[in-house]
Amino acid sequence: MSKQRFDAIAKSYTREKLPIEESGRRSEYFGTNVFNEERMLQFLTKEAYDRVKAAMVSGAKIDRKVADQVAEGMKAWAISMGATHYTHWFQPLTGSTAEKHDAFFDLRSDGRGMEKFGGGQLVQQESDASSFPNGGIRDTFEARGYTAWDPTSPAFLYGTTLCIPTVFVAYTGEALDNKAPLLRALGAIDEAATAVAKYFDKNVAKVNATLGWEQEYFLIDKSLADSRPDINLTGRTLVGQSAAKGQQLDDHYFGVIPSRVLEFMKDLEIECTKLGIPVKTRHNEVAPNQFELAPIFEETNLAVDHNLLLMDIMAKKADKHNFTILFHEKPFAGVNGSGKHNNWSLATDTGVNLLSPGSTPMKNLQFLTFFVNTIKAVDTYEELLRSSISSASNDHRLGASEAPPAIMSIFIGQQLDAVLNELEGVTKGKLSPEEKTELKLNVVGKIPEILLDNTDRNRTSPFAFTGNKFEMRGVGSTANCAKPMTYLNTIVAKQLLDFKKEVDHLIDKKGFKKDEAIFNVLREYIKTSKRIRFEGDGYSEAWEKEAKTRKLSNNKNTPQALQVLTSKDSLELFESMKVLSEVEVKVRHEVELEDYIMHIQIEGRVFNELVYSYIIPAAVEYQNKLIQNIVGLKEIYGADYKKMADSQLDIVNRISEHIGVIKTKTDAMVEERKTANNMVDVTEKAFAYCDKVRPYFDEIRYHCDKLERLVDDEIWPLTKYRELLFIK
Ligand code: ADP
Ligand code: MG
Repeated sequence: MSKQRFDAIAKSYTREKLPIEESGRRSEYFGTNVFNEERMLQFLTKEAYDRVKAAMVSGAKIDRKVADQVAEGMKAWAISMGATHYTHWFQPLTGSTAEKHDAFFDLRSDGRGMEKFGGGQLVQQESDASSFPNGGIRDTFEARGYTAWDPTSPAFLYGTTLCIPTVFVAYTGEALDNKAPLLRALGAIDEAATAVAKYFDKNVAKVNATLGWEQEYFLIDKSLADSRPDINLTGRTLVGQSAAKGQQLDDHYFGVIPSRVLEFMKDLEIECTKLGIPVKTRHNEVAPNQFELAPIFEETNLAVDHNLLLMDIMAKKADKHNFTILFHEKPFAGVNGSGKHNNWSLATDTGVNLLSPGSTPMKNLQFLTFFVNTIKAVDTYEELLRSSISSASNDHRLGASEAPPAIMSIFIGQQLDAVLNELEGVTKGKLSPEEKTELKLNVVGKIPEILLDNTDRNRTSPFAFTGNKFEMRGVGSTANCAKPMTYLNTIVAKQLLDFKKEVDHLIDKKGFKKDEAIFNVLREYIKTSKRIRFEGDGYSEAWEKEAKTRKLSNNKNTPQALQVLTSKDSLELFESMKVLSEVEVKVRHEVELEDYIMHIQIEGRVFNELVYSYIIPAAVEYQNKLIQNIVGLKEIYGADYKKMADSQLDIVNRISEHIGVIKTKTDAMVEERKTANNMVDVTEKAFAYCDKVRPYFDEIRYHCDKLERLVDDEIWPLTKYRELLFIK
């Protein structure tokens, strides 16, 4: 009998829910662990407060004297809350967050202890970056990096540690993290969108990109998850026969949340609320044991920090409630995987959502301007945007059998589609007064009405307009949203700059009225970006064919998807928008390829262990049991035994056949790995892992899963899907 599996199952049966008490009204304790406005007013001097506010709004620099004052205030607050340490919290290119804790404690020259935290420690920290991925930047530049305070995301208290959000950069200035490029992209979209928004309202001084992510995840009982080496080391099951009952009954989706899970969610939400993460919705997702959490949207930099912090809190709270949380995009074959939808929009400092239709024709022209420019940007840079969501684990969804497809397209709904089609017919050049009136009243003027009943939702679209925002649906559940948000805001910023130039040209050089100029430019954009609009079923084969004729990219795996990153157009885009230099792009390309290689490599190694140390031994053990039985029958029945042992012999044969294939394929996979490992060029190596190593996984798995069905349940060593997937 397989002891580990059955011990784990027995343990999972004894689990009780861990009751959590709500600690008062959430609106009252929201943000109590954040050094937010309220705390700043309490703990900072007026001057320091004003300077931090200016830095938050307009990116103004904070000098050392003020930094000292801010540090003093932060320290006083944090210590009053029981903090003992502080850390610069940053986002290395690994995708998650990193931190190094220092105590507030210091020694005075007389040997007595004191509490110390000054402006110097707040603003900048030396960080030994040598172990973080840097894509060989060290060879070209000095890789020593430092972390620098990002005052636009407030410091927070996590446990007994004061966490200070920071960027991570090399001494030579290159970004070594995901936050620095995001901040640059957000600066770019602010500048470009503000300039365009001023066509409609001179009072707009700032535009914030907003992000509302939705996080999907699986919860598995901790002891059951621990019993599977593949879950432990790769975050997913590499083998496993589907449970007889999966998601086909749809009885989990939006169903009653299991009580153990509900207590976990409460605990999580309380912690999030204290940390200022505005969590809002929780529900069961489609697959058994799959759930989702969504907050109220926020300014993008803060939303990204909050998502990363959330994932960290989730893992800790899951552990406390005896769960293992899986963020992997496809932890189980045969049931839905997880994603992280990124809802995105643009908001002005005057309180207007630029992607929300308004009450007047002019407001709607503003809406159409941002709407059409976004469509145009995604059309121009569809392949680049696709590359921003590629990873070894997300390959299981994009371009595999699961939504959304690897092809970028935009769904806007029938009614808006009709509006754009009408605008396509706007006269070239100056407009007659009649045409203007007609446009304003009957085309642009009707938008809010039609949007009200625009309830059709296309779940198969990777980039869908949902009434007052776009929803980017292909982002991986493990991903840091910073990357897709950096790319999206960069391409829209670039597009808005081009738009402004064209409109200004028509106004200044051709004597067009403002609205005429805008209509004229939009008309051309609508015409030239038509191929990206698709209202049909994104999962269908017909769409794949259609997309090909439209010359849309369809990169189904990471090495392929990443190639566009170093193309001339991409390099030019990032360079001209001052988001990423050529070196920084190349570094990222390399780091991502290496990350891909490592993931496939680890999965290959775990496969090896599963096959040789778990699956083959179990199959042989059962085969021996059968052989013993056959030998016994022969002893008793002599020549007649064959009739009676027929089925047993058949199973013995089938087991041998499966073992044979599994062993051959596993050995061949190991050989391919060795060949790949000897490759020096990282692109070549990534493609080798993708095209030569990875295809073996499915073949090996197929036969392992067949064995799972043949072998005595008592002998099978790996916890089964039906045991993993249904929380009691
Ligand atoms: P679903 O997509 O699951 O049907 P919703 O349409 O309610 O759900 O989308 C909810 C998500 O959209 C939330 O995370 C919310 O914060 C986000 N959201 C709503 N408005 C905006 C906005 N203007 N900018 C960014 N995100 C937004
Ligand atoms: Mg959604």
